Amino acid sequence: LQLVAGYMGFSGILGHEFVGIAESGPLTDQRVVGEINCICNDCDMCSRGLGNHCSNRSVIGILNHDGAFADYLIVPEQNLHAVPDEMSDDLATLVEPIAAALQILEQVDLSSDTRVIVVGDGRLGNLCAQVLKNAKCNVTVVGRHEAKLRTFAALNVTTCHLDDAPTDRAADVVVDCSGSSTGLATALSFVRPRGTVVMKTTVAAEHEIALAPIVIDEITLVGSRCGPFDKAIAAITNNEFQLDGFISGRYPLERYREAFKHATLRDALKIILEIS
Ligand SMILES: [Zn+2]
Repeated sequence: LQLVAGYMGFSGILGHEFVGIAESGPLTDQRVVGEINCICNDCDMCSRGLGNHCSNRSVIGILNHDGAFADYLIVPEQNLHAVPDEMSDDLATLVEPIAAALQILEQVDLSSDTRVIVVGDGRLGNLCAQVLKNAKCNVTVVGRHEAKLRTFAALNVTTCHLDDAPTDRAADVVVDCSGSSTGLATALSFVRPRGTVVMKTTVAAEHEIALAPIVIDEITLVGSRCGPFDKAIAAITNNEFQLDGFISGRYPLERYREAFKHATLRDALKIILEIS
């Protein structure tokens, strides 16, 4: 939705959370998911093992590379991961966002009982909350949508409406999954001095924010994007995520307009486009 709103200035075929069947390459005829950064294996970032930051990369459905809302999609062999037989197609489409949620654990040192607030009750907020809960953190989700907040009850995660959010600035770590240009300011209002804000929101709009409080309170800001597919596949296979009800709608590709409209509704989580 943010790409349609102009994020990254992308022009081309959208779609970067997908499962498909490999038509060629080492995984021919197998179900596969694909990492979205297509890299050169040659630049300084690639040499450092930071391929997701390759200076020559294209990104599937986001940057100079057509995406998955199509009959066929070209993906470098090294990006592909076989999907275990026991994993449904629906769950396989969640490997990419779950990997992105797991990236928090790669970047931030979380001990058990770390007090974490997740800002945002949408898809990524839900997956990040589950990752952090699984990491034994003390998680509270702050959101604006009563219906979405109720979906967290089954996860045994504390929730509260933004209007009733705690004002004591006691969170060690705050993760902004709001998908809103105001999310960072909200996150900063919850984090304790010397705490950490993990920025997961990517929006087309500019952020307007006062920076002095970040300096005064010595806040660490951590940008966080793509994560480990192998760990995501293992975690889903181990049933570490509660994903019942996560798919809010399902449309054939021809009805993409309806699908996009559905995705904008307040209580919508994941919408699936089916391409036969
Ligand atoms: Zn490179």
